[in-house]
Amino acid sequence: MATPAKPGQGVLRVDLGAIIANWRDLRARHGAEVAGVVKADGYGLGAAEVGRALAAAGCTTFFVAHLTEGLALRAALGPGPAINVLNGFPPGSDEDADLTPVLNHLGDVAAHAAAARVAGRPRAALLHLDTGMSRLGLDAWEQARLAEAPDLLRGLELRHVMTHLACADEPAHPLNEIQRARFAAACDRLAPGVPRSFANSSGIFLGAAFRSDLARPGCALYGINPTPGRPNPMRQVARVEAEVLQVRDVPAGDTVGYGASYTAREPRRIATVAAGYADGYLRSLSGRGIGLLHGRAAPLLGRVSMDLTTFDVTDIPEAAPGDRLVLIGGPGNTADELAVLCGTIGYEILTSLGSRYARLYEGA
Ligand SMILES: *Cc1c(COP(=O)(O)O)cnc(C)c1O
Repeated sequence: MATPAKPGQGVLRVDLGAIIANWRDLRARHGAEVAGVVKADGYGLGAAEVGRALAAAGCTTFFVAHLTEGLALRAALGPGPAINVLNGFPPGSDEDADLTPVLNHLGDVAAHAAAARVAGRPRAALLHLDTGMSRLGLDAWEQARLAEAPDLLRGLELRHVMTHLACADEPAHPLNEIQRARFAAACDRLAPGVPRSFANSSGIFLGAAFRSDLARPGCALYGINPTPGRPNPMRQVARVEAEVLQVRDVPAGDTVGYGASYTAREPRRIATVAAGYADGYLRSLSGRGIGLLHGRAAPLLGRVSMDLTTFDVTDIPEAAPGDRLVLIGGPGNTADELAVLCGTIGYEILTSLGSRYARLYEGA
């Protein structure tokens, strides 16, 4: 397929049809409303494009992390869908963008409730209760205070009360059930009748006890496996290709790349491709990554440089300059698989993708 990529430019292909299919699949599994989490620029794949595709498919609620992400998403989507800002923001800072803050501590609650009373109209918000993450959300002491002074919520129109699971990707972890029980009790006490938002991607796979009025999947939409250790139920979404600039013969005894970390024991053919850690191809993949060329695996040799990476194509005789090597997203080098090789998670592989790629959106 023709790409708008300039010579030497890498290509990031995003299958919007697969994202929509993943969203529908999650909705069917959850059996209730499912939002689209598009924080961090849609996990690196483009929040505007992903958001528009999901909205067209019927998704009416989105989550971003930052106010700035919310402002940009509102500009991309126009009026209509709810856009919830996980990190919250002070009253007044969303101007006319119609963003909904997540209230993460009692100070947030007080500030937005006071602003609503001054404005003389209710302020939509989400209330975040911490049930075991110790990150954001009202802690146990704040929840007890709120229980004693429910008037603190006066002026607010709570759209959802939410919590976030710490260990949803480990179904047997005891904290899952602890968080479930704490959340259920706190909702009954603090926000009876308010719709609840509980599961992230992995939480949707924890079973009916973790169902709520609104699930908040992110990673699974983008093809990251929400059930680590088991087969990935989601469709693959992202594929990164980099251009082969040169194919060269390296004689036995020569070394490859910075630090001379790889020494050819016998003659090798090396393909040098035009992508490196500045493109989010993590340097910790040095000596471990796997590329795909003409459908075959090409092991990464030596270190990942900023703009270049070298792969062993000794066993791929047709390798030639101008070829596109699949850097991420093929069989054997999905984001999850590369993450295992370099000690991270697929989320970090996707959200690290750099800004130099030609981005191609397909299948919407
Ligand atoms: C990032 C995030 C999500 C989505 O998590 P995934 O594991 O990517 O599905 C949901 N809720 C909150 C509060 C988050 O921060």
